[in-house]
Formats: sequence, C-alpha cells, structure tokens
Amino acid sequence: MIIVLRINEFLLRLGCIPYIFLNFALDNEFCPPMKKYNFNAGPSMLPREVVEKTAQAVLDYDGMGLSLMELSHRSAEFKPILDEARLLLKELLDVPAGYEVLFLGGGASMHFCMVPFNFLRSKAAYLNTGTWSTKAIKEARLFGEVVEVASSADKAFSYIPKDFEVPADADYLHVTSNNTIYGTQMRHDPDSPVPLVADMSSDILSRPVDVSKYNCIYGGAQKNLAQSGLSFAIVKESALGRAGRAIPSILDYGVHIANGSMFNTPPTLPIYTALCNLRWVREQGGVVEMARRAEERAAVVYDEIERNSLFMATAVEEDRSYMNIDFVMAPGYEELEAPFVSFASERGVVAIKGHRSVGGFRASCYNAMPLEGAKVLAACMREFEKNVKK
Ligand SMILES: *Cc1c(COP(=O)(O)O)cnc(C)c1O
Repeated sequence: MIIVLRINEFLLRLGCIPYIFLNFALDNEFCPPMKKYNFNAGPSMLPREVVEKTAQAVLDYDGMGLSLMELSHRSAEFKPILDEARLLLKELLDVPAGYEVLFLGGGASMHFCMVPFNFLRSKAAYLNTGTWSTKAIKEARLFGEVVEVASSADKAFSYIPKDFEVPADADYLHVTSNNTIYGTQMRHDPDSPVPLVADMSSDILSRPVDVSKYNCIYGGAQKNLAQSGLSFAIVKESALGRAGRAIPSILDYGVHIANGSMFNTPPTLPIYTALCNLRWVREQGGVVEMARRAEERAAVVYDEIERNSLFMATAVEEDRSYMNIDFVMAPGYEELEAPFVSFASERGVVAIKGHRSVGGFRASCYNAMPLEGAKVLAACMREFEKNVKK
C-alpha cells in the first residue's frame, strides 16, 4: 500500500497521471482505435517495429542524446549502419562475390538513366511490361540503340510477354520484375542470352533471386525496403567501365563503389530504416519465408476476387503479382467502385484505390502486410457482395 502510494506520489510529481489517463483512454477496450491495414503502393507499409526503431533513432540514437538525423554520415555511429545494411542485403539475397551493394538517393528513376549511362555501349534490349519499363526505355534511347524485344501494351499490360528474341549482341536485357501499376510479376528470373538488368523496386526481398544472372538490380526503397528518398543497386563490378563514354561522377556506379557508397552524403535516416527492415526480414526467416507469405497472402485476395461476382482481376492468372493485386468491378457494377473504397476504408482497409492509369483497385501486399490484412480485405469484399445482392 505504502509502495503504491509512494509510486503514485512520484508519478504525480512528474505530472504522469494525465499521461497515464490518456493512455488508458486510448488503449482501453471501450474505445479501441480501429486497426488499419495499409495497402498503399508506395511509399508503403513497413513492419511496425521498423517504424518504431526509426522514430526512436530520430529522437535519440542509441542513447547518445542526439538524433540520427544530426549525425555525420562519416561518424563512427553511422558507418556501421551503412556497412551492415550493405552486408545484410548481400546476405539475404545470396549475392555472389564480385557484386557491390549501393544505397543512393535519386529513386528508381535515377537508375533509368544510370543503367544505360554505365552499361549501354551500342545496343540494349528492353522488355516493355508497363509504365516503368516505358520510362526506362525512354531514358535508354538517349544513349544508343534500344530494341524493344516485346511489349504487352496491346492488352493494357495485363500479361508478361514470353516469346521474344533477344539480340545476341545486346549489352543487356532490361526487365521490370514486378509491374507495380499493372499488377503483373515475373516470379522467376528470366533466361536470357545476354546479362540481365532489372528494376526490382516493388518486389525486392519478396523472393529469392539468382543475382548471378544480372549485371545490375536496382530500385527505389519506398515499396519494400524503407521510406522514400533512398534507392538501392546491386552491381556486378566486372560489367562496369565498358560503356566507352565519360560519365558524370554522381551517375557513375564505379565511383560510388570506389567510395563505399559514400561518394556524397547518402540518405542516412532511410538507410537506418532499411537496416532495421533487413534485420526484420532476416529474423522472420529471410526471403524464402517472405516468398511463402507473399504467395499465401495473395492467394487469399485472388481467390476472393475469383469467387466474388462483383469483382474481376485485371492481370492474366499466370502473371499475377503477389505484391500488387489489381482488380476492378465486374461489368454492370462499375458505379459501386467509389462506394466499395469507402466501405473498405470504414473497416480499416485503406489505400486500395487503383493507380489513375488503370482505375479500379490495387491492394499492395508487401512484406510487412500480415496475412490478417489480406483476410480482412477478402472479408470486406464478401460482406459488400452480401449487401449488394440482398
Ligand atoms: C515506384 C517505382 C518506380 C519509380 O520509383 P522512384 O523512386 O519514384 O523513381 C520505378 N519502377 C518501379 C517498378 C516502381 O514500382
């Protein structure tokens, strides 16, 4: 009793009582905050503990009394963060010797230009599977001949072309492994007579990759790795230095590698978030486990789309993305699109509105999305159908 009183007295002195009260009011079962399932396509959901660790580091990094945002990128504290993040990405993707990992600013779009700048000597092959491939092709054309080996534009990018020929004298074949907007995915590394280059912005760390087939794998971090402001690249060192042109230092993969990914100030806080996320992926069982979960989650949503008479998937079955699930209202129900977005949002399912170029819905299910989120979305679709059909 006395101890309790003492503690209360102590807390009162600290002014903690209002805080405890507030916490109780927020947490208690009479008014629980609605659980939100964040289906944003990017920037997108991250594991809660990764967000919390980042928040903590912003306030006070490792008990130093300083924010990580206030520390030099060359400080004794930051250097190990960058080193471990580079090493962990290598470890998780089983990156062979002879490759280096870079964390740079600029986003995936910067690599649309860096890739041909560094690897296109005379001719490059590109597979066109959507908006991002199209943008990558546009940039590459500034540097040399670009052969578009195939395109799925004829059917609104709803599939991945399979039968195409790659010129044997191309410097590389560029693919977009997951088409974030159209919801299609190459779930396996394609075979190619020339080295591959891939934009893996939206499926990096969601499955094992045979890195030895690639000269370069790159992407923006904001889909499945960290928050925005950061990009990554996995670069085969022996493939560099052959483009036969002068490259501005900031766009030269070789310069970034020679400087240990510190040619200039890298986005320090996003790199810390990436590190926390990479540690999380490892703790959860690595990319094999991420792939298992992705398939399981996607099946819950696609199965419901197939079963439900109100909805329809847009991508052909064999090429459907496990990361971005695109669907629309079935013919005759188009006017229910906006009502379903509100219906879902009232049940905690947020950000399922499709990309403006496709319309309909897009449920992005990156690594951080729990299976429960997919089940709640599927339940919303079932309930909505019941309400409409009654
Ligand atoms: C989001 C995205 C991009 C664009 O990334 P930025 O970082 O905004 O440049 C490029 N490619 C793919 C596959 C994407 O999902």
